[in-house]
Amino acid sequence: MKAPLNQDGAVFDHSRHYNDFIFVYPVISRRSGGLSLGVNLNPDKICNFNCVYCEVDHRVPIRATQVDVARMSEELSALIQRVRDGRLAAEARFRDSSARVIKDIAFSGDGEPTMAPNFSACAQAVAAIKQAAGLTDTKMVLITNAAGLDKTDVRAGLAIMDANQGEIWGKLDAGTEAYYRQADRSFIRFDRILANLLSTAQTRPIVIQSLFFKMRGEVMPPEELDAYCERLKHLVRSGGQIKEVHAYTIARPTPENYATRLEPNQLEAIASTIRTRTGLAVKTFA
Ligand code: SF4
Repeated sequence: MKAPLNQDGAVFDHSRHYNDFIFVYPVISRRSGGLSLGVNLNPDKICNFNCVYCEVDHRVPIRATQVDVARMSEELSALIQRVRDGRLAAEARFRDSSARVIKDIAFSGDGEPTMAPNFSACAQAVAAIKQAAGLTDTKMVLITNAAGLDKTDVRAGLAIMDANQGEIWGKLDAGTEAYYRQADRSFIRFDRILANLLSTAQTRPIVIQSLFFKMRGEVMPPEELDAYCERLKHLVRSGGQIKEVHAYTIARPTPENYATRLEPNQLEAIASTIRTRTGLAVKTFA
């Protein structure tokens, strides 16, 4: 895949494949503010959402059905070593980037990480490696659609993350059930997503990540954006802690050609509305 360039000319290649690794991959991420080591908890590419803008490439065959914790740990340790001794920064893909400082280790993947049956075991393994490496400033990030945040094993994993610079980035793409069904196309009820975001945010501050896009040429309608802002305000009124909102847009090819990216000014206009209506900090990634 050709690496996209951002406005500063830095390379952002979000490929989840690195050498012969199966579970771990390095990426320069604007949302992470530098080098992020991704841990793909969904090598089976299974997700309980079916977002119209999903970037997961289902044409590439799967190489594993579940995370092998021992192999994932070996790959993560090896990649941390490559960062530390400068070999990663010397690679063409990472040259001229900040590939010597690991900003975060992120559970993401080719699906929804909270569907991994061994989520807490993965969190424990990553926390142990992070501690052993002395990466005290490196976050553990979970990038999630929030559907599985109420699972017992996931909650055990979140507690491990909390003790190890954890941060949860929970998806919220809509204000109404109807728009959620159009954008995210999940069989899971919208109120369960909202309840999971709330209960998670009542325990620790979370980041809300929202992808805004054009559906059949139309940006999110004003009444939908109003409803979205009301959802955020309700989360806060109910004791949820929202550290910030990440508003971003489509960056790569989508499975549905009627889902297209916003122009930077369109995304900034949405972010400005969210700031005004909710008082929350909003970062944009166009
Ligand atoms: S939640 Fe993520 S992985 Fe799942 S369909 Fe949506 S974009 Fe794809």
